[in-house]
Amino acid sequence: MLLKHTTADIKERKALTVNPAKTCQPIGAMYAALGIHGCMPHSHGSQGCYAYHRSALTRHYKEPVIAATSAFTEGASVFGGQANLLQAIDNIFTVYNPDVIAVHTTCLSETIGDDIPQIVNKAKADGRIPADKYVIHANTPSYVGSHVTGFSTMVKGMVDYFSEANGHKEKTINIIPGYVEPSDMGELKRIAAKMKIRTILFPDTENVLNGPMTGRYKMYPDGGVTIDRLKMTGNGMGTLALGRLASGAAARALDVKCKVPCEILNLPIGLHATDMFIDTLRRVAGVNVPDALTIERGRLLDIITDMHQYFHGKRVALMGDPDQLLSLTQFLVALDMRPVYIVTGTPAGKKYLKALEETVKDVPGKVRIQAPGDMYLLHQWIKQKSVDLMIGNTYAKYIAKDEDIPFVRFGFPIFDRIGHSYFPTVGYRGGMRLLEKILDAILDRKDRDSDDITTELVM
Ligand code: SF4
Repeated sequence: MLLKHTTADIKERKALTVNPAKTCQPIGAMYAALGIHGCMPHSHGSQGCYAYHRSALTRHYKEPVIAATSAFTEGASVFGGQANLLQAIDNIFTVYNPDVIAVHTTCLSETIGDDIPQIVNKAKADGRIPADKYVIHANTPSYVGSHVTGFSTMVKGMVDYFSEANGHKEKTINIIPGYVEPSDMGELKRIAAKMKIRTILFPDTENVLNGPMTGRYKMYPDGGVTIDRLKMTGNGMGTLALGRLASGAAARALDVKCKVPCEILNLPIGLHATDMFIDTLRRVAGVNVPDALTIERGRLLDIITDMHQYFHGKRVALMGDPDQLLSLTQFLVALDMRPVYIVTGTPAGKKYLKALEETVKDVPGKVRIQAPGDMYLLHQWIKQKSVDLMIGNTYAKYIAKDEDIPFVRFGFPIFDRIGHSYFPTVGYRGGMRLLEKILDAILDRKDRDSDDITTELVM
């Protein structure tokens, strides 16, 4: 009973978060930066933050994660980190030779008030940035927002620094994939390629954080969107931003900067959200949906039909990132499941809450939603009335274990399982995988709880 002190009695809390349902901003910024080919993420702050952020990503993706740090000590903490960052820019280009350094800040450098654009301009004026190289930045104070905010800000930084419009529209569509797994980014590209649509997906961590074992270490793996292609995003026919919280800001910035119209969609998790993604791609690109995708959709429908009897009426508790939760909730409702408790640690705003409430409006009984909320509150709700299934990241497993609830790992971070970054959960194929995981968890519990007489061979 690791969480034995959680009580069912809920006291009002305003300033205290217990067991947060989020991680810190720079982790998201670092993840986004790794989606640029030849990029060295740089943490402008102390070594402790940097070590934590790198290790969080390594533990989730089970891959080496490169990054550098300004390594603040007492002097920089008092007088500011300009000298450290200038020295770091020198060292990184000399020793590691990246195409771009993507600087993000930490709580410490934000509290000091370091002006990163001013420092980068000084580095440029001092000749510390080679002619064909770049330094970009994102402000990521972690006392606001979450890893989703950090991701969003770094992706917007890519638009601010790189996107250009040269007056010639290209027949390409930009896709901003949201804070999803490298395999999801690959799946989005596969779907677009099946529709014969040329896309620029950014950031793109496929083959960066889910690459093959070759026996040779590459500091800059083959994957990632190149800077040339990032520049071309300004000439696209349109932008599809998947997940308003993680991708909306960059898409709107691209619209304002280069007049590339954007559509902000839910993450394509589950049947209806994938339908919407594919239909929007079809409309914006002016193409038809190929039979191959219609067949994939039919397979997902077939699995839903076969599994529906086990899903119907099951009470589910969800925690995780807001964009994922919205699409996942929509998917569960379509399966006739009952998402009764939903918690995200990321402040998501009134518009988001409205969309979530609209999604669950026909779910029978009371649905509790907290955004932002924490896992202590989620645990208290569960103590008051339990659920049949929990879906969330690794940290939710303590609640599932204490309360003996079937548990499906989904989202970020997942530290205690391996392989998730190789299998998508977006698109029709991703939907099939999610359904298999959910049904396995439910039926494994049924098998465990059945005695010799009631154990079924065929279910
Ligand atoms: S919350 Fe702030 S101080 Fe803590 S690890 Fe994140 S950036 Fe560093």
